[in-house]
Amino acid sequence: MVGVSETKMGRDEDGETNMAAWLLGIRNLQIQPYLLPPLGPHDVEVRIKALGICGSDVHYFKNMRNANFVIKKPMILGHECAGIVEQLGSQVKSLEVGDRVALEPGSSCQICNRCKKGRYNICPEMKFFGSAPTNGALANKVVHPENLCFKLPDNVSLEEGAMCEPLSVGIHACRRAEVGPETNVLIVGAGPIGLVTLLAARAFGAPRIVIVDVDDCRLSIAKKLGADESVQVSTNIQDVGEEVVKIQNVMASSIDVSFDCVGFRKSLTTALSATEAGGKVGLIGLAQGDLTIPLSSAAVREIDVVGIFRYRNTWPLCIEFLSTGKIDVKPLITHRFDFTQKGIEDAFETSAGGGNAIKVMFNV
Ligand SMILES: [Zn+2]
Ligand SMILES: [Zn+2]
Repeated sequence: MVGVSETKMGRDEDGETNMAAWLLGIRNLQIQPYLLPPLGPHDVEVRIKALGICGSDVHYFKNMRNANFVIKKPMILGHECAGIVEQLGSQVKSLEVGDRVALEPGSSCQICNRCKKGRYNICPEMKFFGSAPTNGALANKVVHPENLCFKLPDNVSLEEGAMCEPLSVGIHACRRAEVGPETNVLIVGAGPIGLVTLLAARAFGAPRIVIVDVDDCRLSIAKKLGADESVQVSTNIQDVGEEVVKIQNVMASSIDVSFDCVGFRKSLTTALSATEAGGKVGLIGLAQGDLTIPLSSAAVREIDVVGIFRYRNTWPLCIEFLSTGKIDVKPLITHRFDFTQKGIEDAFETSAGGGNAIKVMFNV
């Protein structure tokens, strides 16, 4: 693929060249100039200070695509971020220069029916940082709408601010499945999204939470983060029946809500089968496109299957949970890198390598 055009020198009035991490091809990330879009009346310019790598960034890095989103020209990755406001659009009233803010990455059209119903996360016109073809935020600076920048209190760090993005997925999932003090929760998958869902379910008051995964190491992290019990499972679909009995025994009470944070035939079959009649199954992970699952047996037990896509209106609650200490996301941050050419290469290889990495964070 071609590099970023020479004419796109992202130089400011003050002479600083804004740099960003451009994905030019498979496993080919380069720090190159990024000319910011003009600052609209309701936009702010934010200097990015912390940015976490997400599974979707890694998919683009490895394949130049993520599900149906394909990268056709150089694109900047990254959407889990926080920074400091440096410039205000002419009409900005809610923020000031110097404010520390967490950025919600998706900007919706605000005029379609879904937006009007408040379900802006499923807006068909959504422009989302680092989701093709929209550029992301792994850059020195970005321009973003004022209403998607949330001021952080002094006791919430910029790294924690960046963690509002993945945490939002867990919060939205718990809202969608109506998790509360009377719902025991099963979480299938102890990757980053399973873990934030665990933290959110606890904060929503779930009395008992059981988590399952194939990886023993991830399960021990989940236990440290507050899971009541964990069950190690196999990848073999034949084992589902036996494992479901084990999971139900370990829960020792009804499983009212299950979240599939993986999205394979086996994980969703486990969630559907383990859930108590009348309960809910939330679909968060979408690893596989089409799945063969026992849907009719779930239907006759009146299991509600709830789709979960990103989040909406979650940043204020995330910040509240972080500020009051109800949720601690710091143990999820396992690796830190600088925003240099070597730093971005090492960071993405670390994140892509799986292993013991949960959240890989840039200090830009
Ligand atoms: Zn993410
Ligand atoms: Zn819309």
